[in-house]
Amino acid sequence: MEKGKISVQTENIFPIIKKFLYSDQEVFLRELISNAVDATTKLKTLSSKGEIKTEIGDTTIEISIDEKKKTLTISDKGIGMSESEVKKYLNQVAFSSAEDFLKKYKDDANIIGHFGLGFYSAFMVADKVEVITKSYKKSAKAVKWTCKGDPQYKIEAAEKKERGTDIVLHIDDDSKEFLDNQRINALLNKYCKFLPVPIKFGTNTNSHFEGEGDDKVEIVEEEDNIINNPTPLWKKRPNNLKDKHYLDFYKELYPMSPDPMFWIHLNIDFPFNLTGILYFPKLNNSMELQKNKIQLYSNQVYVTDDVKEIVPEFLTLLHGVIDSPDIPLNVSRSYLQSDSNVRKITSYITKKVADKLNNLFKKDRESYQSKWDDIGVFVKYGMISDQKFYDKGLKFAVLKNTEDAFSTIEEYREKVAKIQTDKHDRTVFLYTNNKDEHHSYIESAKAYSYDVLVFDNIIDNHFIQNLEQKLDKVAFVRVDSDTADNLVQKDEKKESVLSEGELEKVKTIFTEALGDLQGGQIEMKPLSPDDQPVLITKPEFMRRMKEMQSFQGANLDMLPDPHSVVINTNHPLIVDKMMKMRNKDKKSDFASYLHMLAKLNQNMLKGKELADFTKKSIEFLS
Ligand code: ADP
Repeated sequence: MEKGKISVQTENIFPIIKKFLYSDQEVFLRELISNAVDATTKLKTLSSKGEIKTEIGDTTIEISIDEKKKTLTISDKGIGMSESEVKKYLNQVAFSSAEDFLKKYKDDANIIGHFGLGFYSAFMVADKVEVITKSYKKSAKAVKWTCKGDPQYKIEAAEKKERGTDIVLHIDDDSKEFLDNQRINALLNKYCKFLPVPIKFGTNTNSHFEGEGDDKVEIVEEEDNIINNPTPLWKKRPNNLKDKHYLDFYKELYPMSPDPMFWIHLNIDFPFNLTGILYFPKLNNSMELQKNKIQLYSNQVYVTDDVKEIVPEFLTLLHGVIDSPDIPLNVSRSYLQSDSNVRKITSYITKKVADKLNNLFKKDRESYQSKWDDIGVFVKYGMISDQKFYDKGLKFAVLKNTEDAFSTIEEYREKVAKIQTDKHDRTVFLYTNNKDEHHSYIESAKAYSYDVLVFDNIIDNHFIQNLEQKLDKVAFVRVDSDTADNLVQKDEKKESVLSEGELEKVKTIFTEALGDLQGGQIEMKPLSPDDQPVLITKPEFMRRMKEMQSFQGANLDMLPDPHSVVINTNHPLIVDKMMKMRNKDKKSDFASYLHMLAKLNQNMLKGKELADFTKKSIEFLS
């Protein structure tokens, strides 16, 4: 037996290890199993190179719990270690790297995956660790290394027949949770689901009957409970895969979710190595996202499902898996974004996604458009946040009008330019955010042969703003922002039926009858007699200001509601009926009734006002 002292400058590294990763203690299991996988992979490599002549046999890694002894054991059948290797790797190399690691990052606890501590993360949960190991080399003798969580260690000869390594963790009192089957099962599921070597955790019993009648016997079979899928789909060649494979794999990742719409298989090994599958979920015209996060793997080892710094934010709407050993994991998050590999990876993924959408659009436009409610949010989000994606998106972003007809932005511009170009030579894109509420406004616009687009998603305000900035000579105008004749401003003068004096009188009647308009104002306009007698419009600019303010957290109810009450001074109800009324009160009543009618049309009539309106209508009818 030999005793020694682990070469380390600080005597008290263990408390640091414990404290440092406190919140993420559970990663010890991933670290130790990753080591076991590495040891197994190394063995297979040696064997395939002919450096090991004998059959290597089964290499399943086994995890086991002994509740009585309070141990958790990770056993592999990998290359194992000789005594000198144990000393070299476990005592010095690993330890000094752990120390470096802590020195470097002690001020930045936000490290992806906390890679790098490796073997020593065992001391986050154990007060004693035993390593019993036997090298694959012919004359190797088994050794046992014991360390009790201080820099003292012990090495002695051990009994072990098979090649490989057992790591026995004596779980400390604070970490008893790791002796619980269910907890370990959950961790294995989280971190090890796709590791490339089979991992066994306990057994399953399978029973079935054989024979007939009196000869019928129950056969009970024990079989290994293998918790992982060592050959996940993203590692396979796309050419050999069918839709069903992708859909099944999606179910494996997200058992509770509806099928995705389509997917991209990523597979590149130069200038960086990256594999993965990204799925487009059904977004249902909403941004209720992040339920199924993209999982980041490094050589099939789960790292995190927080990939914000690795893929552009809009791509986090997608689901699936990215696996790249080229994403640096032991660096701080703020560093990641400036890492050149990460930047290349980001633009590679963005390009692949844009290409996929473009292909779908070109190949089967009908089917693409039928999925627009699901794809649109994603495309718009991408175009707003990423200039390169915007440039590509112009080819496959579509606009939908009130008749459910789709056009690309360029097609649409051509389609409406003739009728909807205003006096400033801008093409006006009319839109509604609510087909039902704006019904009469849409009808009025159509009477002028105008086309109206539907923008009814929460992202649309931003999308519109963005398009307006980037497209040349295009203006977006909501269909209720002005009277229909003026939605597309032209240089025509309209004639009024009433004289100047009469107009003054009408204005006075309305001003008195309507009282305080709370942010509104009265406008007199000689519209067509077929238009409504009184209309409410919400000027585009003012409305957008208000939307911006409310987006920045202002209380909508507290802000004045800028609107105009437009009096159609050519409407018969005003020109004939109202002007002929003798009684002043009657005139006032009539004016306020027309105003309520206009408010009703804009869905602005609520509570007492609505009740008053109903009462007044009944009065008029009787
Ligand atoms: P890393 O895995 O990052 O190199 P670790 O601290 O986890 O650092 O391990 C240090 C070294 O100890 C490994 O590089 C390996 O040589 C050796 N080692 C650890 N676990 C095993 C194992 N299960 N089988 C064989 N060698 C191992």
